[in-house]
Amino acid sequence: MATRLTLVGQGEKAQRVHDLVKAPANTPESRRRQASWDASRPATVYTTPEMLPDGTPCSAATVILRTKGCHWWWSSGCTFCGYFNDTRDDVTEADLQAQWDWSAAKLNGFADVQMVKVYTSGSLLEDREIPVGFQERVLRECAERGLHLIVESRTEQLTQEKLAWATTINPDFTVAIGLEAYDDEVLRFHVNKGFSVRSYDRAVANLKEAGLRVKAYLMFKPPFMS
Ligand code: SF4
Repeated sequence: MATRLTLVGQGEKAQRVHDLVKAPANTPESRRRQASWDASRPATVYTTPEMLPDGTPCSAATVILRTKGCHWWWSSGCTFCGYFNDTRDDVTEADLQAQWDWSAAKLNGFADVQMVKVYTSGSLLEDREIPVGFQERVLRECAERGLHLIVESRTEQLTQEKLAWATTINPDFTVAIGLEAYDDEVLRFHVNKGFSVRSYDRAVANLKEAGLRVKAYLMFKPPFMS
């Protein structure tokens, strides 16, 4: 049955943003597709031309892992997010290890690339999403092989303590943050981002203090702007 939207003041209970954001993930087709994924294989693996942090051209591997997704999506979710399409609810650490092995085998042990982007439809350094043992393996193997690692993250995981731990394993990697907009009104009412500009500033300060490189993804024309 179609959901009828109500407005505040109409005398009926208003729809929550949360329910509207999550609706596409809960259709029978979305649920069926999620259940069809092989948890032991990554969502996709490919290589592209890239640049190392010093500007040197290089070849980069992108490994998009099949994960349980993003903890913010579990409890609420960004208004534009479609990453739930790549996730399964029951991915285990053994599955992630198998996906990493498969990715390395497919790309000749990463022998022909100088950079590896490891994306998780969430945050690699978030313990609720990615088992710590697997985080450690990715950090360690990239450092040992001399591969520049790029991971994605929200802001709340990027504490001084977490980064101190990560940099003992891999002292030189990049963290890309989906900031979308440096504006609390857009973050709250348009994107439902679940973190603030202040949280972003704190994360960037912690990353710089840890000697790590930061990238920010920005969104042009966020939802509900016009
Ligand atoms: S933080 Fe990223 S993965 Fe999480 S809900 Fe927002 S867009 Fe989706």
